Amino acid sequence: MGLVNAKEMLAKAKAGHYAVGHFNLNNMESVRAFLLAAEETRSPIILGVSGGTAKYMGGYKTIAHMVEDFMEFLKITVPVALHVDHGTYEEALAAIEGGFSSIMFDGSKYGIEENVEKTKYIVSLCKEKGITVEAEVGAIGGEEDGRMAMGECADPNECAAIAALGIDMLAAGIGNIHGKYPADWKGLNFDVLAAIQDKTDGIPLVLHGGSGIPDDMIKQAIDLGVCKINVNTECQIAFTEATRKYIEEGKDLKGKGFTPRALLAPGLEATKQKCIEKMALFGSLGKA
Ligand SMILES: [Zn+2]
Repeated sequence: MGLVNAKEMLAKAKAGHYAVGHFNLNNMESVRAFLLAAEETRSPIILGVSGGTAKYMGGYKTIAHMVEDFMEFLKITVPVALHVDHGTYEEALAAIEGGFSSIMFDGSKYGIEENVEKTKYIVSLCKEKGITVEAEVGAIGGEEDGRMAMGECADPNECAAIAALGIDMLAAGIGNIHGKYPADWKGLNFDVLAAIQDKTDGIPLVLHGGSGIPDDMIKQAIDLGVCKINVNTECQIAFTEATRKYIEEGKDLKGKGFTPRALLAPGLEATKQKCIEKMALFGSLGKA
């Protein structure tokens, strides 16, 4: 099976009261780690690609080919969607051309009217090709690829306006932020989340900044309609900690321990285990 869009996996998650994990690719090791994690646990998965990763890994077409060829090579049989994470207008268009099965167009930096116009156009292109579309209302706090935004809560009426454009999933700020959460973080705003779901006719909701949100808040968010949760930072930290440990223990100085494959193997395994841990929390194990 090749790439699929996110429609069916999210509909099943919504009906089954669990969430599908969206894990960001950073390098070749992460492609391998996430695909193996999903296959071994029979879990559907969404692989996310930021603009920074797209540049680093050779562009959208290269990444789409790499993921599809890896799926064939590793005999992956669970549903895998390849998704643009926080795509600018230009990035979204490039990924549509490049063979991605799902797109996030992040128009949150535009006013609501321009966000609506641009989202409409992206939706019309994607409908023809069977590509699912995620839109965002209300900038999500923290930093992602250099773009800073303060945590804010989306206006449920603006969410309703965007949801009505034919998108497949909606990301809305509810106090969540990208990267590490500060010690004085106030938590997710579940009243706003409930109001958004109420006004958006049951559309699958997306929670960004899933790294470091307490488990009970994740579960409550799923209860209120979240069925896609984005995780990046925790997997990156798992990779880097395992790599640091390998070097600190002097393993790179023994035998063939200096080869890049040996050096990166513990990080790959740690990424895979962190991914499985998150999928277990989201309830998606065995749902493929
Ligand atoms: Zn995000």
